[in-house]
Amino acid sequence: MKLALHWKILIGLILGTITGLLVNYLWTPELWRSLGVGDPAAYMANQPSEANAAAGYIALAARFLAELTDFAGKLFLRCLRFIAVPIVLFSLIVAVANLGDPRKLGRVGGKTIAIFLFTGFTSAALGVTIATIFQPGVGLSTSIRESLPGADAQAAAKAAETAHTISGWQMALDAVPLNPFAAIANAQMLQVVALSIIIGMGLTLIPTEKSRPVIAFCDGIAEAVLKLVQLLMHAAPYAVFALMVTIISSFGLSIFVGLVKYSLVVIAGLATILFILYPTLTTLLTPRGNKVGWARFFRAISPAQLVAFSSSSSAATFPVTLECARDRLGADEDIASFVCSLGISFNMDGTALYQAVVVTFLAQLYGVDLSFADRLFVTILAASLSIGVPGIPGGSLVVMAVVLDYIKVPTEGIAIILAVDRILDMCRTIVNVSGDAMGTAIIAASEGKLKTPQQLAMLPEA
Ligand code: ASP
Repeated sequence: MKLALHWKILIGLILGTITGLLVNYLWTPELWRSLGVGDPAAYMANQPSEANAAAGYIALAARFLAELTDFAGKLFLRCLRFIAVPIVLFSLIVAVANLGDPRKLGRVGGKTIAIFLFTGFTSAALGVTIATIFQPGVGLSTSIRESLPGADAQAAAKAAETAHTISGWQMALDAVPLNPFAAIANAQMLQVVALSIIIGMGLTLIPTEKSRPVIAFCDGIAEAVLKLVQLLMHAAPYAVFALMVTIISSFGLSIFVGLVKYSLVVIAGLATILFILYPTLTTLLTPRGNKVGWARFFRAISPAQLVAFSSSSSAATFPVTLECARDRLGADEDIASFVCSLGISFNMDGTALYQAVVVTFLAQLYGVDLSFADRLFVTILAASLSIGVPGIPGGSLVVMAVVLDYIKVPTEGIAIILAVDRILDMCRTIVNVSGDAMGTAIIAASEGKLKTPQQLAMLPEA
């Protein structure tokens, strides 16, 4: 039986979660001890410890399996991350060069930014609103606060320290690379996006006989790299399984205790964006006869959503998002490359919502009263700062402290939400990548560059 890719990945995800939970519950210190391992942490880290002298073959096999699982997940993510920079660089250069005349580029760019800003602000406003209505931070006692696992003051202090160095002007300045090669080498996505747009525009300004070979070269590499993504996706179900086992077995579900209400508010907000806002926008803004409704949207983008969930990184998921937007949704290559590449930095609706909820939650927890003007301010700040958030696991934490600082909530509060950050990160990353596909569908449709499902079905299978 030939199962569609997204089903295979979903099965990998579910099996990985179940296996992770089983390992988390069943693999206790007693079990380790019965296998001759007295100091599991040292044993897993391969550090010599007298307490582990009696470790036998079963313990060895268990460690090998855990290492193998960890390796498989990391290898997959490494491959995707390796692909992310060249694909943005080459496909965005081609996209900008092909969009050609600056008026067209301006039009498509303007529409893209407008839609991203709209969804960003809507998401942040939604976050502030639901956190104000449901008040997840009210009634959480100090003892709970202190007993929360992961109330890691050190990590919070580090996040706060990094964040203090970021200002709006600096962020805008940082988008312009000083040295294009350094931007590429350091995978500074916002800079790589800026760089590609600049080169792409430059190519439109020189004679065609000079620009054509360069564009063809970039196009060839972009195609080749995307082909690799298609091949790599065959491994996705197994990689997703491995990633889930590793994450869930180390966290378990106990981290939710005490933060259940807060986590539910975040998840409800993310679900509203994903299941209501995006499909409504794509349904309203795509033409009759070629509508991107609920089913079409999710069928097309689900592989990217599943990879996003298990990787917590929208930058690493980018190649998959692009592939889904082009080959499964049917958007024109140039539009898909352009919109998705811009989306990497400009469209982080899950992150915007998350920051808004966190700040409101922590303000409630610390008893800081937020006026209407404060809430408006948090909305604006959360939406704009989400632009600078890197698409990596925990990326939000980098700028979170800035928002907290502005409304005088202690930045140490980050320590509290760190406990469940990873799991919520997985959820918000789904929204972040889905937003790029949403934007692509709308922009491609508005430019008459969205294939109908019938046209898509006629294409030879990749
Ligand atoms: N992990 C998120 C992403 O990659 C960023 C965040 O932490 O909000 O999109």
